[in-house]
Amino acid sequence: MTVLTTPSPEISEQVSQFLRQPHQLLVGGQWVDAASGKQFEVKDPASGETLTNVAEGDALDINAAVSAARHAFDEGPWPRMTSSERGKLIWKLADLLEAHLDEFAEIESLDNGKPRAVAAVADVPLAVDLFRYMAGWATKVEGSTIPISVPYMPDVEFHSYTLREPVGVVGQIIPWNFPLLMAAWKLGPALATGCTLILKAAEETPLSALRLGQLIQEAGFPPGVVNIITGFGETAGAALAAHPDVDKVAFTGSTEVGKLIVKAAGETNLKRITLELGGKSPNVILPDADLETAIPGAASAIFFNHGQCCCAGSRLFVHQSQFDQVVEGIASAASRIKVGPGMNPETEMGPMVSQIQQDRVCGYLESGLADGAKAVVGGSRLGDAGYFVEPTVLVDTRPDMSVMREEIFGPVVAAVPYDNLDKLVDAANDSVYGLAAAVWTRDVSQAHRLARKLRAGSVWVNCYNVFDAALPFGGYKQSGWGREMGREAIELYTETKAVTVRL
Ligand code: NAP
Ligand code: MG
Repeated sequence: MTVLTTPSPEISEQVSQFLRQPHQLLVGGQWVDAASGKQFEVKDPASGETLTNVAEGDALDINAAVSAARHAFDEGPWPRMTSSERGKLIWKLADLLEAHLDEFAEIESLDNGKPRAVAAVADVPLAVDLFRYMAGWATKVEGSTIPISVPYMPDVEFHSYTLREPVGVVGQIIPWNFPLLMAAWKLGPALATGCTLILKAAEETPLSALRLGQLIQEAGFPPGVVNIITGFGETAGAALAAHPDVDKVAFTGSTEVGKLIVKAAGETNLKRITLELGGKSPNVILPDADLETAIPGAASAIFFNHGQCCCAGSRLFVHQSQFDQVVEGIASAASRIKVGPGMNPETEMGPMVSQIQQDRVCGYLESGLADGAKAVVGGSRLGDAGYFVEPTVLVDTRPDMSVMREEIFGPVVAAVPYDNLDKLVDAANDSVYGLAAAVWTRDVSQAHRLARKLRAGSVWVNCYNVFDAALPFGGYKQSGWGREMGREAIELYTETKAVTVRL
């Protein structure tokens, strides 16, 4: 395999201009430098070269942002706005984002490495749609009236009802794999329910959040409702998780850091927490599956976004009788993938997001191969510049190997044969994670039966990576707490208040 060498188009004038701007923090409606004055470099993962510098926010900036968010939550226009006005603002943000779709796709491609064409049909439109979906929810956050009996007060009448109120000031910490979309998943329900927030972007990919901040200003959100901090997890992120005046932290990233967030909340104010963490998702092909769709489906399940998906189908279970055919099909799909810079229109798979991520993925490959696994295709890094890794299909793995147990977060699938369906379910569920799973079959009953048995927050049948703003997404087991999107997300940004009136 080689990295595409055909030249990529120049960066557009619009994006060049954005890259040349100073990249500050959005705090209380103003763009400001980090209190420390520090900045850090943002790199293009396709070349390793510096794209621009951004402000390095830390605990002091988090303090200022939390104060601004608290002020905006308690006073000023935001808490007095009607839910309809809030919904309109969110819708306006969606319209602005849609109007700048190409620009965001380009920023996302430069910053994260993903193909620009993919960002233009997936990341950006999904973010637009999420904001529109959540704009609709703003006017539909309702409590209920509840008949109560109160056995020890038999002669008294009551009127009881619940209010669903915004949870308050929310800290949101996001990863680098879908920078804009993760920001949208977080901002949408927080804004729809009337919360105020501090968004901490990932250090590897801060740019689309900063451009989104400009659109948030343009849309007319009151100052302090959305604050955006770029900086490092160990400083800015940790300060947000530990801040005593933050009512909730919503986090997406590694299970390891998720546990640190829980610890920080436990040691401070027991803030509410939602977590969307790692995965090691089983993808099961049953003997009656239509292999013409299952094989490309399984390839896309692992290779989409270069395997940097929390729900990537990284453990592929195939019946013994079809194992060789399926492995050959996926290996052949892998070897045809055009790997190159995200900005190159021919590119189907870009680089890993960073040197660290490239080293991490290659470390797993080395350990798996040393333990006796075999790479049918791929197996190592690719190219001299940038952070490329070959799309890889591993066989001859054992359940105890790190490549079978840990999240690799790269384009690496382990294919495993099975011969017995009961044992298959145990093997598929044999993970500390439970984010997603998939089944490929023509047998409707079997599909539903397995959907019930698989311990995962999403189960796809004859498809993979199907996301919608209306569908809840999140994990069982150590894949997280709570759900993103759908009604569930709205509920997780509200507190329920029970009001009882003696009549
Ligand atoms: P990570 O460290 O968990 O980063 C996720 C977010 O948390 C980033 O914004 C990060 O900031 C922040 N963070 C890091 N340490 C923190 C702390 N002590 N307190 C508060 N926030 C903190 O993930 P990563 O290092 O980028 O990637 C490591 C692995 O995590 C990947 O290989 C993959 O297995 C997994 N991962 C999962 C997802 C997912 O969607 N579930 C996404 C990304 C990564 P910085 O960016 O500044 O470090
Ligand atoms: Mg990190």
